[in-house]
Amino acid sequence: MRKKLAAGNWKMNMTPEETGRFIEDLKPLVKDSNADVALMVPYVDIKTALDAAKDSNIEIGAQNMHFEESGAFTGEISPVMLKETGVKYVIIGHSERREYFAETDETVNKKVLKALEYDLIPIMCCGETLTQREQGITIDHIRKQIKIGLLNVSSDDIEKVVIAYEPIWAIGTGVTATSEQAQEVCAAIRDTLRELYGEKADNIRILYGGSVKGENASELFGMPDIDGGLVGGASLKLSFADIVNYDK
Ligand code: PEP
Repeated sequence: MRKKLAAGNWKMNMTPEETGRFIEDLKPLVKDSNADVALMVPYVDIKTALDAAKDSNIEIGAQNMHFEESGAFTGEISPVMLKETGVKYVIIGHSERREYFAETDETVNKKVLKALEYDLIPIMCCGETLTQREQGITIDHIRKQIKIGLLNVSSDDIEKVVIAYEPIWAIGTGVTATSEQAQEVCAAIRDTLRELYGEKADNIRILYGGSVKGENASELFGMPDIDGGLVGGASLKLSFADIVNYDK
């Protein structure tokens, strides 16, 4: 049985001070949730976030990492550094990283492998552009992203991986995929995982992301292959709790 996960992606928002205050306020609102709750925060907020979330059910993650352990990569953060902070998750290959920072399926794969080596849970993102959807190549594109992104991920490790399906046309636009559109692609992702990992595919969490809000979370999360959400804009407000508590 897969437990739902409501994961916030703060992107480049929230100072350390704002982080501490927000998490203190969020804690009582989500303390009885049936879903796992996580916040992916900017690097500089990690310590404050972990301190504020201590003894609560809120887990903390990062939004990216390099695939090398150390070296001449100015401005980058390594898996060794992340592991030592105590974060649990790391987003890998968000479409904004792919679009603005030239990440490819190949670099995503290197990062996923490194995250697993350091016992960090990778939330590996995939998703199609509007043009790809209109051309009818969504599923082919997603299958390729999944197959390359997970290359050499062992059958022992695969159940630790979280996949986030995020149609690019739905991210930050206010346009949400219909629950049927989201389910169709998440089911195709699970089929691809089944081809690669057999029955283990049924234990891998697949999130939907793209303008998830309190009003649409319960319908989306109620679909058979959607195991929660990766939530951008709506995770910056305390009403994120409505998404976490989608089933109440
Ligand atoms: C995201 O950043 O992963 C995302 C889905 O953003 P939003 O919820 O704002 O569309």
